[in-house]
Amino acid sequence: MKKLTLFAIMATLMATAMTSCSGEQNKFQWQIDSFDDIKVLRYQVHGFEELPLQQKELIYYLNQAALWGRDIMFDQNFKYNLAVRRTLEAIYTSYQGDKECEEWAKFEKYLKKVWFANGIHHHYGNDKFAPEFTEEYFVNELVAKSNTELFPTEAFGSKEALLDVIVPVMFDPALYPSRLVQAGVDDVLKASSMNYYEGLTQKEAEAFYAGMAAINDPRPISYGLNSKLVKKDGKIYEQTYKVGGMYSEALEQIVYWLEKAAGVAEEPQKSTILKLVEYYKSGNLRLFDEFNIAWTKDTASPVDFVNGFTEDYGDPLGRKGAWESIVNFKSVEASRRTELISDNAQWFEDHAPINPAFRKAEVKGVSAKVITAATLAGDAYPATPIGINLPNADWIRKEHGSKSVTIDNITEAYAESAKGNGFDEEFVLRKEDRERINKYGSIGDNLHTDIHECLGHGSGQLAPGVKGGELGKYSSTLEEARADLFGLYYLGDEKLVELGLVPSFDVAKAQYAEYIMNGMMTQFSRIELGKDVVESHMQNRKLIAEWCYEQGKEENVIEWIKQDGKTYVVVNDFEKLRELFGKMLYEVQRIKSEGDFEAGKALVEKYAVKIDPELHKEVLERYASLNIKPYSGFINPIYTLVEEDGKVVDVKIEYPLSYIEQMLYYSENYSNLPTIN
Ligand code: ZN
Repeated sequence: MKKLTLFAIMATLMATAMTSCSGEQNKFQWQIDSFDDIKVLRYQVHGFEELPLQQKELIYYLNQAALWGRDIMFDQNFKYNLAVRRTLEAIYTSYQGDKECEEWAKFEKYLKKVWFANGIHHHYGNDKFAPEFTEEYFVNELVAKSNTELFPTEAFGSKEALLDVIVPVMFDPALYPSRLVQAGVDDVLKASSMNYYEGLTQKEAEAFYAGMAAINDPRPISYGLNSKLVKKDGKIYEQTYKVGGMYSEALEQIVYWLEKAAGVAEEPQKSTILKLVEYYKSGNLRLFDEFNIAWTKDTASPVDFVNGFTEDYGDPLGRKGAWESIVNFKSVEASRRTELISDNAQWFEDHAPINPAFRKAEVKGVSAKVITAATLAGDAYPATPIGINLPNADWIRKEHGSKSVTIDNITEAYAESAKGNGFDEEFVLRKEDRERINKYGSIGDNLHTDIHECLGHGSGQLAPGVKGGELGKYSSTLEEARADLFGLYYLGDEKLVELGLVPSFDVAKAQYAEYIMNGMMTQFSRIELGKDVVESHMQNRKLIAEWCYEQGKEENVIEWIKQDGKTYVVVNDFEKLRELFGKMLYEVQRIKSEGDFEAGKALVEKYAVKIDPELHKEVLERYASLNIKPYSGFINPIYTLVEEDGKVVDVKIEYPLSYIEQMLYYSENYSNLPTIN
């Protein structure tokens, strides 16, 4: 997995309506818009003001380089996206009719969806949007009462010719129904309306690239990553994305701003940026590899970025890179947290509640880098990942490794905006639990994840003669359980208070209450009725919660409570529960260390898989009644250079409040591609 999506890391999010300990942040308005199945949020760039001027300036230039790529993504998604978007925007800004009526609201909603998806197909589901207003209203009312001189007619010759194309594109459900179809059809290129191929069949495209990669090349070039493949007059050829080639107008701007960035960057980052520029100018993929290697090796520069044709999910043949950019800098505060944990790795190992024979004599904690996003663009905007792991070329990953980061301020925005969505009120029975979760939920989630990642997976050792792999298909669930238990156990340890990572045991109480509730019931909201739990992180949570429930039954550590026809699960004894986590860790570590397949299988099969259908149905119904939007995206802050006597003296950051304004602003100021490319 190259991108960590929200869905992939629900482990620490969802189901635990997340919260933060800081009352300060309540004043910040996280959610600024909501329509259809989407909510639009803002994120805060903590620490930007405190950065040295040089880093701020670097971020400013990288931010400009990012914003100029927006049109590319629209065009890559579908060849008429820019024509539709520009026409809709012309109408939106010049229509002289009634803007109070329901039809106009439907039109505005459609435009918001097109902006969000970077085109006329859903960003996640890939299906074409069906406008809720009529074709008749569009043509006879909106078009008729708008300034058609603003319409993007240049590629079509006339307004009529433009409408002849885009009206069926928008309104005929049979035309271009899906952006991406990857299976179940004779020809995935014919079935998909993405704009990476034109005029040729799947077979022809596959044959074109099949002959390219040299057999046994240990460092294979990612052929096709930065081009559109076209068949015209019987000839198949690539239109390469480069300065002087396809998307030249946008890439020239990107290059211009990257060169500015290189001008203020320090080595080795300066050379890395210039390598990227060289690649954009030539289209030479070998240079892109060289850039990626330099980029991967540079783990020291505080400011970092992604900028390029990157992820191939939008190509049914998995070859073409969607343009994206994320500008970021290291989060000092959050990274301090993981460094502190990492620095004390040996102490945690030495005190782990496991058989001393299975403790590692010498343990090295992993210090996961945590970053703050400063700008999101292209494929990463407005919908964005909460973690990145790049580059994608397998041979580079093997020879040079990769960079894996989590984006703290995006996670924070998701968590903060989930506050008050009614989840806690619906599922957390006791007021004291709700209050603790509200106060300590986020810090508990983050620390649990940190310990899980930095220490949990790396802890312990195998018994002599055990090779690993003995646990077969149960291994990933048991491994996740081992890492989670390590985190849960230590979250309630005095040591964390001593290290200054938590104020008190209350953080553990908040996390324990959430974790048990999630494992035993609320996580089922993401599983279809009648299905089992199959995903390993979800199995692990159910396994831990159910096992502790049973082990603590006599002492009533965890309790099911029925109230007003609703089911709740509560923790009565947090200290005892922590002991149970330790006891279970002892056993799960033993199973791993000894490679005890039968014991591992018994645990997973008994506790982790089957859901009580009555409870499952109830959870689904209660969750649906909350009406929580399934998709989120973000608008960016605005950066402005402050100059005195022609010299940059500061960079200002502002947080705009309007989704519509940002979209129109970008279209006005960062849009120079032809309507048809
Ligand atoms: Zn894990």
